Amino acid sequence: MHGLTEAEARLRDRAREVAQEAAAQAAATDRSEQYPWPMVRRMTEAGFLGLTVPKEWGGAGGSYFDAVLVIEEFAKACAVCGRIAVEANMGAIGAIMAYGTEAQKRIAAELVLAGDKPAILITEPEAGSAATEMRTRAVRRGDEWVIDGDKTWITGGGVSRLHLIFARAVEDGEEKGIGGFIVVRDGEGMPAGMTAERIPSMGLRGMPEANVAMRGLVVPDAMVLRPPGGWARGFGRLMDAYNGQRVGAATVALGLAAGAYGHALERAQTRRQFGRPIAEFQGLAWMLADMSIEIEASRALVWRAARSAGPNGFPDRLAAAQAKVMAADMAIRVTNNALQVWGAAGYSRDNPMERYVRDARMFAIAGGTAQVLRTQVAEQILGRKLPQTRDGFMRLAAEQAR
Ligand code: FAD
Repeated sequence: MHGLTEAEARLRDRAREVAQEAAAQAAATDRSEQYPWPMVRRMTEAGFLGLTVPKEWGGAGGSYFDAVLVIEEFAKACAVCGRIAVEANMGAIGAIMAYGTEAQKRIAAELVLAGDKPAILITEPEAGSAATEMRTRAVRRGDEWVIDGDKTWITGGGVSRLHLIFARAVEDGEEKGIGGFIVVRDGEGMPAGMTAERIPSMGLRGMPEANVAMRGLVVPDAMVLRPPGGWARGFGRLMDAYNGQRVGAATVALGLAAGAYGHALERAQTRRQFGRPIAEFQGLAWMLADMSIEIEASRALVWRAARSAGPNGFPDRLAAAQAKVMAADMAIRVTNNALQVWGAAGYSRDNPMERYVRDARMFAIAGGTAQVLRTQVAEQILGRKLPQTRDGFMRLAAEQAR
């Protein structure tokens, strides 16, 4: 692939080298369903967690594009490790480094540079794609906020230290908007007022997903993340930061596909049937050709999105959504076809192919489904709002008539 500076190529090669160690433990992580702490320590030592943290806060000051180069290499070998690299460089940490107070930035930077993968808590049992229908409330009580609510499918719930909780802020009995609340877990247990219960998941099994309940969780006012523009614009600004994480998720999907494709390419040349390598059968040769085309196309979109960071420091919303839709759908197709190339051997749990298929399935769901992101793309290319509630267009017409 063209277009890397020498420093970028060096970074990618270094990540590729350490990712070999990730590959060696990926099957064991999947089987044990345990968070891969030894690999996290290795990635931390190598400087891949907190890579995007600015130098003034002790990080390497890397770009989103640098992070993408690292994430793809880890995801090829171990998708769980790829996701750890995403969340320790984008998402919650990106939001805090952009909007946080000096004290919040210091706390967040220290945590990720020491190997923490922050958790971001948006989704609720009754508010998935319709995230703004969230019910979790943070009620101001003097210098503190008290949070009550339930979140679900929280990646890292129970292992993450830094939590960025999205909740409805209520001050003087009045709802102000959706804001971000930072909670840090010290020690082994969860913070008082917060519990996490693991959800068994199809793929990416070394990464805990959890239902998180908050009952009377107390957050000091100093730990409220206040994006510019006040409460009313808070959710939008926090979601701008989430675009970074979307590009990261797209990169893990890309890496998974590229990893599975590499195994398929090798197998197609070495497995013989009817006295010849199976790669000679056009049915498979074209399947491999399509995989390579789709992977390169996805990489081009992911790279474009990662390099699009605008004045707010986050990737462009349209480019991020386009890259995520393409990479997520592509990874499902490519990992499935790569397993097909392996035949029965690919279906065995002694072989990474079935893991690639399971791991790839989530990217069309998490972080904005493939359907919801298509609507986001449509809104931007059409230059018009496409409300999703039943009365949305009527409300829009009433606003325009005013
Ligand atoms: P629903 O919103 O119930 O959607 C169900 C189906 O309906 C989907 O196919 C969807 O595309 C479709 N649909 C819904 N609305 C529309 C529409 N308007 N137009 C067209 N189709 C529509 N959340 C967090 O907050 N933090 C995390 O760390 C996190 N990690 C996750 C990790 C994993 C592995 C998974 C699977 C999810 C994670 N999520 C997380 C939650 C994720 O963001 C939600 O699953 C996602 O937003 C979709 O919500 P839902 O699952 O409730 O689906």
